[in-house]
Amino acid sequence: MVVLHYTEMKPVENALDKMCNPKAKVSAHYCITEGGEVIQLVPEEKRAWHAGVSYWRGHRDVNSASIGIELDHPGHAGGYREFADAQFEALVPLLNRMVKQHDIPRANVVGHSDVAPGRKIDPGELFPWDRLAEYGLCLPRPEKISPNDPFDNDASFYLALERFGYDITNGHDAVEAFQRRWRPENIDGEIDGEVRAILFQLLLDRDQGRTR
Ligand SMILES: [Zn+2]
Repeated sequence: MVVLHYTEMKPVENALDKMCNPKAKVSAHYCITEGGEVIQLVPEEKRAWHAGVSYWRGHRDVNSASIGIELDHPGHAGGYREFADAQFEALVPLLNRMVKQHDIPRANVVGHSDVAPGRKIDPGELFPWDRLAEYGLCLPRPEKISPNDPFDNDASFYLALERFGYDITNGHDAVEAFQRRWRPENIDGEIDGEVRAILFQLLLDRDQGRTR
């Protein structure tokens, strides 16, 4: 897996100091500055401490199964804003090389918020997942979704959400995390028709082998 984060700390030197301080107990394999500089902090084959308590597709120890990339950014706490173009342009070749080298499925390139619903919201709704999907480096948002409600009730929706990968221990948090990634225009934690239809299409595409 690859987990994308923001540092929520400016300037970037402070974030790097923290990630290099053993007492802080946080680290990541890479940090990409807003200017587009890629700084490796931990070798890819080593475990870094970036995901914390987390879950994705049955795995509870995401740190042992993932590469963590921190994006230098002020975060929601520091004035949430668009991600820098130079940073995105540096991320693309890094991610491209890594998914090929480690054979990482697109469905396993995720945000911290996807693996820690209710606890983390980075990199957040302004991260350009759509642009990353154009490079084939993460799943795209489903283009056409069925207007019919594919699930009878909330229980069947949650089962499907867990099957897609999310920890559904807290249903509201799980729905918010799903929305942040797949329908960032409206993040309210409520299960509505559009959210149901998006999830159904994502599962359908994956199970039919159109995405991986
Ligand atoms: Zn994070």
